[in-house]
Amino acid sequence: MDIRDQLIALAYLASSILFISCLRGLSSPEQGKRGVYLGELGMLIAVVATLVKKEIISYEWIVAGLLLGSLIGTAISLKIPMTKMPERIAFSHAFGGLATALVGVTEFHKLRDLATVATTASTEHAMSRLTMGALGFEVFLGSLTFTGSIMAFGKLQGVITGAPVTWKGQNLMNIGAFFGTLALLGYQVVYPDTAPQWMFFTMCGSGLALGILAVLPIGGADMPVVISLLNSYAGLAACATGFALKSNILIISGALDGSSGFLLSMMMSKAMNRSFSNVLFGAFGVAEGTAAPTGGPAKAYNEATVEDAAAVLAASQSVIVVPGYGMAVSQAQHAVRDLAAALEKRGTEVKYAIHPVAGRMPGHMNVLLAEANVPYDALFDLDMINDDFSRTDAVLVVGANDVVNPGAKTDTKSPIYGMPVFNVEQARSVIVLKRSMNTGFSGVENELFFLSNTMMVLGDAKKTIISLVNEVKGGGGH
Ligand code: NAP
Repeated sequence: MDIRDQLIALAYLASSILFISCLRGLSSPEQGKRGVYLGELGMLIAVVATLVKKEIISYEWIVAGLLLGSLIGTAISLKIPMTKMPERIAFSHAFGGLATALVGVTEFHKLRDLATVATTASTEHAMSRLTMGALGFEVFLGSLTFTGSIMAFGKLQGVITGAPVTWKGQNLMNIGAFFGTLALLGYQVVYPDTAPQWMFFTMCGSGLALGILAVLPIGGADMPVVISLLNSYAGLAACATGFALKSNILIISGALDGSSGFLLSMMMSKAMNRSFSNVLFGAFGVAEGTAAPTGGPAKAYNEATVEDAAAVLAASQSVIVVPGYGMAVSQAQHAVRDLAAALEKRGTEVKYAIHPVAGRMPGHMNVLLAEANVPYDALFDLDMINDDFSRTDAVLVVGANDVVNPGAKTDTKSPIYGMPVFNVEQARSVIVLKRSMNTGFSGVENELFFLSNTMMVLGDAKKTIISLVNEVKGGGGH
């Protein structure tokens, strides 16, 4: 190992440490930004170290790719709103998967050509079994991530139906295709130099097909869990690439990506009180925003005006704000902060209750409220705040639905039964801001909306809160 190789190895070590520190930082809102910077620095070091490797003989294509990728990446990041983040992540994973699969195909061809020369010269295997296994996983998972992520993007964007698409024997067919592909891979690992090439390309085809088939039966609203799982596959594919190319940094970063994506998917499923298999095979959730189930007589609810709601807030000593997906849709976070400031000026105590699966991605509410400069110490997790609702004068539900549905605690037939929810109904008054009586993500009616202490203020959350701020500022005290 010459001095250049030693420096590159050192740089990779530094990158790996930075990647681990990045993940650690991302686990808390205070350290999140720092975590991102550390991750970016780690990636920069890894890229520069790779670029100075002596195996690189020309830079033209690399520079062209770097410029084009940076241009597209910057443009997308500047233009995409926070509510479209899951779509944007799905899109990036698709390219990550495709790139990994293409690297695998190229490496396969290179090694196969060498193998032909080696066999003619009757020497040892040119392609080791380990390399063949790694390449197989790489192209299979890379191809699956590519089409799976495109499907996830399409479902979230509404280009493909968000409803689960199911048919009889679907799971059996997918499982059969999966094990068939593993059998093909097994044969190639045993006979790495002589296994027919069609087997390798059938594996790529099977990965592409399974990406589509496995995501079709999953409802659009479950896509964040799927995206996180595909993220994990992309990481494992990169890890396999590392074994094929003998690159330690790819092995380490791929393993980190693979395991953190998998853990995140598990945590999301757990927070929804659903098993992982229910998310993947349960065909859960009708299309989002469907009307509440009909059939019986229309149930009565208290529709209130902005003035009514402002009067309740103004008369409250303590208020808990519960944000949900609707806050993200209406981009009401700045207005929420202004309302809290107006109430605090009157001496009201304002806290925020943050549910682990509120919104459509982990930390969704934290990110939005941080963007509006809401202090971290005003945000409380489910466990920390759930006992406070019974001692609170008013709860302001801003575009949340499933996370405040008391039916999750009592209705054993409900698809969200068992999901931990906020005890908002225990507060003296509950003000719900949403546009209609429609359901949220799970398609389940919310009995909170029909309780006697609940006021429904229908309309876009941001517009309503702006009016509330004016009312509270102009209205009487308590
Ligand atoms: P939700 O149950 O999806 O309800 C959101 C509500 O926001 C809707 O009922 C909608 O009612 C309202 N809304 C939409 N646009 C609005 C606007 N402009 N102004 C006011 N209201 C608006 O949301 P949630 O309570 O946050 O619960 C999240 C759900 O997503 C959970 O079921 C969770 O399991 C699921 N999920 C979360 C994640 C995650 O990582 N966070 C991942 C996967 C799934 P209207 O249409 O009547 O306005």
